[in-house]
Amino acid sequence: AKAAGGARHQFFDEALNARSRERALLETELRHAIEAGQLCLHYQPKVDARNGRIVGAEALVRWQHPERGLIPPGRFIALAEESGLIVPLTDWVLHAACASQRRWAEAGLRPLPLSVNLPAVSLVDSRLADQLDELMMVHGLEPSCLVLELTETMLMRDVNTAVEVLERLRARGYGLSLDDFGTGYSSLSYLNRLPMTEVKIDRAFVTDVARGGRDGALAAAIITLGSELGLQVVAEGVETEEQSAFLLGRGCVLQQGYLFSRPVPAAAFERLLARGTAR
Ligand code: C2E
Ligand code: CA
Ligand code: CA
Ligand code: CA
Repeated sequence: AKAAGGARHQFFDEALNARSRERALLETELRHAIEAGQLCLHYQPKVDARNGRIVGAEALVRWQHPERGLIPPGRFIALAEESGLIVPLTDWVLHAACASQRRWAEAGLRPLPLSVNLPAVSLVDSRLADQLDELMMVHGLEPSCLVLELTETMLMRDVNTAVEVLERLRARGYGLSLDDFGTGYSSLSYLNRLPMTEVKIDRAFVTDVARGGRDGALAAAIITLGSELGLQVVAEGVETEEQSAFLLGRGCVLQQGYLFSRPVPAAAFERLLARGTAR
C-alpha cells in the first residue's frame, strides 16, 4: 500500500510538474511575443441596430503564434495577469489601438470611439491617466475617441479607489464602459456611484432574451436603469435577428455581436468603416 501511495504521489507530482512546465513555457513565449510583435488587434464594430451604421468598435487582442496559430485572449489573458505580463501587454494594446485610430483618421475615415479592455491592475496604477494623455498627444487624438472597458468585478475590489481614478479619467474626457454588466455581485446602487459613460449588457443576458425568460426581464431592466442614469447602453453578443429586435424594442439601439460582424483584422475592419455599415 505504501508503494502504491508513493507511485500515486509520483504520478501527481509529474502531472503537476508537466502543468507548471507548460505554464512556464507559455509565459516565456508570451513575454517574447509582446517584444517580437506577435500580438495583433481584431476589431468588432459597435452598431446602431436601427440602420447597421458603425458607431464605434472594440479592440480585442490576439496572439499570432508562429507554430500554434492564432491564440484567443481566453487562453493567455489570465496567465498574463498572474505573471505581471499584463502590464506590458496593456501598454502594447493601448499603443496599437491609438496607432490604428491615427491611421484611420489619416485615411480620411470617419473618426469613431475605440473601446479597449483594461485589466484590474490598470486601476491601481497611478500612471494611467498621464500615460493615456501622453498617448493622445503622441497620436494626435482626443480622449473622447477612447473608451476604457472595465468589469464590475474589478471595480468592486476597492470601490473608493475606483471612483477616484475613474473620476479623474472622466474629467479628462475618456469614455468609461462597465463591461459584462450583470455578471458580478455588485448591487445596482454602485452603478450610480461610478462615473461611467456606458454600460454593456453581458452576452449571458442577451442569449436567451427573445424567449421571454428571466434573462429578457434582466436585460430590459438593465436597459431602463442605464438609460435613466444617462448612460449609453450596449448589448454584447447579439447573434440573431430575434435578439436584436427584442433589444431594439426595449430601447437598446447600440449592439455588438456576430449578427453584425465578428471581430475582424484591421484591413477587413477598414473596409467595413469605408462602407460605414456592418451587415
Ligand atoms: P469581452 O470583453 O467580454 O469581449 C467580448 C468577447 O465576446 C470577445 O471574445 C468577442 O469575440 C466575443 N463575441 C463578440 N460577439 C459575439 C457573439 O455574437 N457571440 C459570441 N459567442 N461571442 C461574441 P474574445 O475576443 O475571445 O475575448 C475574450 C475576452 O478576453 C474579452 O471578453 C476580454 O475580457 C478579454 N480581452 C480581449 N482582448 C483584451 C485586451 O486587449 N486586454 C485585456 N485585458 N483583455 C482582453
Ligand atoms: Ca469588453
Ligand atoms: Ca464584455
Ligand atoms: Ca462578456
